[in-house]
Amino acid sequence: MSAINMKNIVKKYGDGFPAVNDVSIDVADGEFMILVGPSGCGKSTLLRMIVGLEDITSGDMIIGDRKVNDLAPRDRNLAMVFQNYALYPHLTVYENIAFPLRLAGAKDSEVDEKVRNASKTLELDEHLDRKPGNLSGGQRQRVAMGRAIVRDADAFLFDEPLSNLDAKLRGQMRTEIARLQKKLGITTVYVTHDQTEAMTLGDRVAVMKRGILQQLATPRELYENPGNLFVAGFIGSPPMNFVPAEVDGTSVKMPFGTVQIPEARSKNAQGKGLLIAGIRPQHFEDASVMQTKKEGSTFKTTVDVVEWLGNEAYAYIPFEAPPEVKEQLTQLEKDLDGEAMRTQLVVSLDGASKIREGDEAEIWVDAEKIHLFDPATGENLT
Ligand code: ATP
Repeated sequence: MSAINMKNIVKKYGDGFPAVNDVSIDVADGEFMILVGPSGCGKSTLLRMIVGLEDITSGDMIIGDRKVNDLAPRDRNLAMVFQNYALYPHLTVYENIAFPLRLAGAKDSEVDEKVRNASKTLELDEHLDRKPGNLSGGQRQRVAMGRAIVRDADAFLFDEPLSNLDAKLRGQMRTEIARLQKKLGITTVYVTHDQTEAMTLGDRVAVMKRGILQQLATPRELYENPGNLFVAGFIGSPPMNFVPAEVDGTSVKMPFGTVQIPEARSKNAQGKGLLIAGIRPQHFEDASVMQTKKEGSTFKTTVDVVEWLGNEAYAYIPFEAPPEVKEQLTQLEKDLDGEAMRTQLVVSLDGASKIREGDEAEIWVDAEKIHLFDPATGENLT
């Protein structure tokens, strides 16, 4: 197994905007690294440069202790697991797993030993005589991984392996991949546009936008301390709310009310004019159902719509963004593929909340979790 070190990687197609722009990522030996971002951000191109399916315009790609920029894909000793698993339907599970060994001219005894070891690890040993058509989606995925294991590949690379599956199967497979990756301890790079997959699978996650690495961190760090507006809006569901905010000392004035935030969070935001506050829906609550209320962090507002989901409810509170930040919020919405709502606050309430449509309600906000962003640069100032 090997570490993968990407150093200042650039990919240009023609003379346009670089598809990958000066990206440096170090994937540690045995680490599960996710490349995530919206369509066109360059994540697949980066993966294809690791495997060798795409030339590198500049920068160094280092796998283990070898610079592989000019090595053919077959000489890089990596295993790519594709979306459709690329299994041979007419071959048994045994022969599908054995395929790369046969191709390399391995002896029957070596083939047998490796296939049996891999199938034991993958809990496929009872299915070796079956054909892929008679397997579940999860089992097929494991056969594809088995083929990668018998090759003793230095790393696994996945390109959106779950994107064709329905939501339920996708959830199951996600757990399966995470479990196997930990069990095998093999260096893995996994491309997805789905932030839930990124958050649940990765040891660390590299968030990309338009060819540029935005932040590289653990899922928890991305959620709690997003480096900029884009990462803040991309990670988390429902997405973080963004509202205009004026900061004066520790007071943050927003369209729906003024709240007090800790001094440490407000100190970099002084005298900067109109900012964008970011608050996750989960960091609000119906003040009337709370056991303990914190001083200075509730506001009264009229709730427009309530969606009740059982254990929680989403309340929607419309607001008007002033022209000074409207442009930035519209651009952000475009960058996020329109996934985030920008004209209303989304508030997650406890399922026990009695707030209903049209009610005047007292809402508590976790002031310690409010982020403040510079609208010009997108930088998180908290
Ligand atoms: P998706 O999830 O839609 O596949 P992505 O984030 O994986 O998107 P890439 O496929 O890496 O993005 O593409 C990054 C950019 O490079 C895009 O603007 C794309 O149009 C461009 N691009 C990709 N392949 C080529 C190519 N062969 N020739 C020219 N431009 C390309």
